[in-house]
Amino acid sequence: MKQERFRKACGIFWSAVLALSTASCAAVPSTSLSTAPAVTAIPEEIYAAPTVGEPNDATFSLTMLDVGQGLSVLVQANGEYLLYDGGGRGASSYVVAYLQQHAVKELEWLIASHYDEDHISGLVGVLHTTPVEQALMPDYTTDTQIYQSLQNVLGEKSVPVIYPAQGDTFSLGGAEIQVVGPRNYAYDSDNDKSLCLRICYGNFQCLLTGDAEQDAELDMVASGQDLTCDLYVVGHHGSSSSTSEELLDAAAPAYALLSVGEDNPYGHPTEQTLEALQRHEIALYRTDQQGEVTVYSDGHQCWFSTEPCQDWSTGNQSIPEEPLATAVPQTAQYVLNTHTKKFHFPDCPSVDQMSEKNKEFTDASRDELIARGYTACGRCNP
Ligand SMILES: [Zn+2]
Ligand SMILES: [Zn+2]
Repeated sequence: MKQERFRKACGIFWSAVLALSTASCAAVPSTSLSTAPAVTAIPEEIYAAPTVGEPNDATFSLTMLDVGQGLSVLVQANGEYLLYDGGGRGASSYVVAYLQQHAVKELEWLIASHYDEDHISGLVGVLHTTPVEQALMPDYTTDTQIYQSLQNVLGEKSVPVIYPAQGDTFSLGGAEIQVVGPRNYAYDSDNDKSLCLRICYGNFQCLLTGDAEQDAELDMVASGQDLTCDLYVVGHHGSSSSTSEELLDAAAPAYALLSVGEDNPYGHPTEQTLEALQRHEIALYRTDQQGEVTVYSDGHQCWFSTEPCQDWSTGNQSIPEEPLATAVPQTAQYVLNTHTKKFHFPDCPSVDQMSEKNKEFTDASRDELIARGYTACGRCNP
């Protein structure tokens, strides 16, 4: 885990003056296609004089946490918090620590885009440690251990769960959360069942599409809903299966936040996606290069915690599209600490702190482990 993850976001904030259009959203219109994409593809005038310090009147913020290969976005509006995804297993303790360090005492909304491990493992950790008012979940089921853990902890904590439909709206402080997708849950791919949200705070709009891929994106565009946004959270970690031309045309973002793990085994982000963002003259921020990134808004303007990286380097394509050998086996029910003789759920925060040489994954049952002299962890209560 990188040291700077815990460094408080501070320093220079570039005041980004948005070209506000009163009729729709404040998206900066993309200009004509540039035939020779330059690294500095951002129009100069987007950047006004740098403002030092957090803007006083920024009553809205969105932080993309640096969860490596996964996604976790914390949104704050008028003191209320929403967490959209919690990252994967390895990021769980970091996400929990981030919320504690930033005095997030309660989440108004906890949202899973979809039930893939790199999006929901951290949510389980958060549910164990932070009170949650209500949850928004996609309306499908899956048979993974981590999905079961999520269901269990939602039940244990008696969190009311809403399975929203396209077109539903909810509120977070003065922000409106619009559910723009999925159209339905008939897609073959779970990624396409991702809950897609457009979060509007005054004239500042953000679009989050989880891991939704092209089929779901095209359906969203075809639905005729307003998808325009200032800030686009890049779909599926910059995979070529997402961020279609149609979506970018409909959303017309000025800024893009990309959550992607350094040296991930999937080749994310892909050249196709980066090239599209560049062609649309979108300012790019990415967690693998910059760590956490926060955007602040007062409903009119926005400020960023750092400058865009405009780094268009793609993920390593030569690594095969297989999960790393060190990943937790999908069948693993528990994680053993062979030194302390304790067993844990794979998502327990203690697992991240365990030294590799004492760590062992097992699909043995609870009774078997107890018979072997193991005791249940008091933290995750397996
Ligand atoms: Zn993902
Ligand atoms: Zn996924």
